[in-house]
Amino acid sequence: MSRSLSLSTKIIVSVTLFFFLALGTITYFNYTSMQNFAKKSEEEKSEQLLNSIEPIISINMFLGMDDPMRDYLNKIVNTTPMILKLTVKDIDGKVHFSYISPRYKAQNISPIELRHTIRDKIMFKPIGEIEMAYSNAKYSEIVDRYKHFSFQLLLAALALVLLLIILLKKALTPLKELANELKSYDPIKSNFSKNRIEGEGEIRIIQNAVVDMVEKIQGYTDKLFKLNLELEKKVKERTETIENTNRQLRKEIEERIRAEEALKYANKMLEKLSTTDSLTGLYNRRIFEQNFNKYWKIATRERRPISVILCDIDHFKKINDTYGHQAGDECLREFAEILLKCVRRPMDMVARYGGEEFIFILPDTPLPGAVSVANEIQDMLRKRNEHIKTKIKMTTSIGISSIVPNKWDESRILIQEADRALYDAKKRGRNRIVINPL
Ligand code: GH3
Ligand code: MG
Ligand code: MG
Repeated sequence: MSRSLSLSTKIIVSVTLFFFLALGTITYFNYTSMQNFAKKSEEEKSEQLLNSIEPIISINMFLGMDDPMRDYLNKIVNTTPMILKLTVKDIDGKVHFSYISPRYKAQNISPIELRHTIRDKIMFKPIGEIEMAYSNAKYSEIVDRYKHFSFQLLLAALALVLLLIILLKKALTPLKELANELKSYDPIKSNFSKNRIEGEGEIRIIQNAVVDMVEKIQGYTDKLFKLNLELEKKVKERTETIENTNRQLRKEIEERIRAEEALKYANKMLEKLSTTDSLTGLYNRRIFEQNFNKYWKIATRERRPISVILCDIDHFKKINDTYGHQAGDECLREFAEILLKCVRRPMDMVARYGGEEFIFILPDTPLPGAVSVANEIQDMLRKRNEHIKTKIKMTTSIGISSIVPNKWDESRILIQEADRALYDAKKRGRNRIVINPL
């Protein structure tokens, strides 16, 4: 039986098959035994008839009394409609009586044919033979009746099977409904409508078990749903907290970055202030001295020349006195700009050494190089003074010293000698360059 058939169909088909098999078997055996019984009783009956008429026929034949025998036989034939044919022959085959019913040929059912030997009643020698055809109409009638009964039994069985199908369908309907309900059941929608029912039947037990199970599923689903909601709420709260903390952190970071930048700027300014002169923007004396000592050591170690130029503005006091202190400051800024333009090499540096006194340090530079820088200063100052817009003229005296230092030389002698050269320049009438090579 196919797997796709429903349980009810399987039960119905199995019961029907079983029922008809049982019914068929019983009917067949009943029919067969009935048939045998009817046949046998018919045969017995006709045997009995033959046995009863044979002594009379025998005596009549023995005595040669054909007419009384014929009368007797005609009477028998007429009163026994079941006899279809009756023939009496002597031992030589001569026919003494013959009867054939018109039904004999027309009969559909084959008649029972019987032969019986006629014996004389003294010596018991065969003197003739009786042939008889006996109708089996009665037997057929019994068989027919049984067929009719079988048909009725079949109809009753069919009715019973139909009843069984209806009952089975009716019994299985709640199961089918339950299955459909389960099929469309969705715990989220909570759409299970069956309830627990009272009683002991299997369907009820199944339905109650299913209802119990659905209630459990529903309970767990509701709990899960509630937990999910709580979790979502918690996640939302946590996210908000994290976002707030993040916002605050970002704000703090931005503030810190701003503060750091401000600090960096302040440090830079402070560094600049500590390394530069506020009026001219040139390096101050402290930075000059740091660098000078460093360059001196390098020059000593590498046996390289190093030069210093000292510039002092001539009669600066007079400028201040004549044009005022502010104009003097402006002159100092202008002078510093000119000096800065004369610094070409990356290692060269110029610094404000004192009030109107400035100093150059030229590492790895022999005397001619320093002289050329000093000449350039004088040239540029001259050009500045020659300019039509220049009201306050300025000249400068320059002292130069240069050395390739030995390890026993002291650094201060280079500046001392430059200072001495400057002094000489002042003494010799100012606005000039004096060289003091060591
Ligand atoms: P000399 O040619 O001999 O160098 O004469 P001098 O007048 O330049 O030299 P002195 O040392 O007699 O005078 C220097 C003057 O420079 C005195 C001071 O008032 C002025 N001075 C120093 N620093 C500054 C400054 O920062 N601004 C102004 N305006 N003047 C200054
Ligand atoms: Mg001076
Ligand atoms: Mg001066």
